[in-house]
Amino acid sequence: MSTTQIAAALFQLQQLDLELERLVAELQSVVNSLEGSSKLQKLRAEHDIAQQQLRAGLQAQKEAEWVLEELNNRLSAQEQRLYGGAVTNPKELSALQQEVQRLRAQQSRQEETALEVMDSAESLQEMARQKAEELEQEEKTWGEESASLRARRDQLEVRQQELQGRRAQLASTIEPRFVNRYDVMRRTKQGRAVSKVDQNSCQWCRVILTPSELQRVRTGTDLQTCTNCGRILYYDR
Ligand SMILES: [Zn+2]
Repeated sequence: MSTTQIAAALFQLQQLDLELERLVAELQSVVNSLEGSSKLQKLRAEHDIAQQQLRAGLQAQKEAEWVLEELNNRLSAQEQRLYGGAVTNPKELSALQQEVQRLRAQQSRQEETALEVMDSAESLQEMARQKAEELEQEEKTWGEESASLRARRDQLEVRQQELQGRRAQLASTIEPRFVNRYDVMRRTKQGRAVSKVDQNSCQWCRVILTPSELQRVRTGTDLQTCTNCGRILYYDR
């Protein structure tokens, strides 16, 4: 392989690498998109919150009912004592009457509370049902929409394999020391280790080559680099 052929092969390698880079970036963005639309993520979060609120609401309802039941039991026990005739002491009877009145007032307040809590649990139930429905609908829509994304991902993966194969094949035809030099330079030079000579200048940095530099790029026995940006020069005519 002549020096110009090596520079040409390295330039081709660079074209493949740049295409691979673009492809990997697109693949990454497709994979990210496949994790779900932002609308879907929002609905999932809202659905979770609605479920949590519903659980809390049902628990509150249960507790309010327990408190009411206990009050009912206490009240009927005291009423039995009051009207049962077992208590005859007037002082004791009057205290019992007051206790019954107090319990009745407490019972009626608790009945109101229980009703409010029940109402609220009912609206939470309705909200949770709505959110579940919206989520289900969106999951379905997303499933249909993402079909084209999945197809694109598969296509990109096939293309990636193909490019990687071509790159390996091309690299195997170039002496390893040149491939290594190219690989090291790519990392420090924004992925562009090779620059074409275009109208007597380095295409990357636009510095104009002297006639002797141009001569060396065309016919030299060693790879020539740009005196300004340091990239390997490639002359394709
Ligand atoms: Zn340059």
